[in-house]
Amino acid sequence: MIKYALACDKGHEFESWFPSAAAYDEQARRGLVVCPECSSNRVAKAIMAPAVVGAARASLPSAEAPTEVALLDRRQRALRDAVRALRREIEANTDDVGTKFAELARSMHAGQTPERAIRGQATGAEVEVLLEEGIGVLPMPAAPDKLN
Ligand SMILES: [Zn+2]
Repeated sequence: MIKYALACDKGHEFESWFPSAAAYDEQARRGLVVCPECSSNRVAKAIMAPAVVGAARASLPSAEAPTEVALLDRRQRALRDAVRALRREIEANTDDVGTKFAELARSMHAGQTPERAIRGQATGAEVEVLLEEGIGVLPMPAAPDKLN
């Protein structure tokens, strides 16, 4: 089973389960996927909010949830290699502070801890608060090795 977030042409959002991605495509093509609010069959997959990468661990998709994937051509493979290199570069030049990331980032921002480059895990909520406080945390580039 696979669950999709869907939206009709009037902007109603709803979720629906399908036996498989192919089954969704087939049902959608035949107009069988219908908005529960207005019965419109002009339905498309809703755009998913992009995951905050620092919080990747907290927002890993479940086994059934659809996740964005792509099949790459040669140019895109070069891009993937660049992302991989960037990630290696960041990993090589930052201290992994694990789950202390939010705490440390805030402390450095406040001048209580000498500034240095760190990486680690933060929940989506923590990232949101950090950004609100004007602390410019960056998503880590995805680990493309997992996407091969
Ligand atoms: Zn609708």
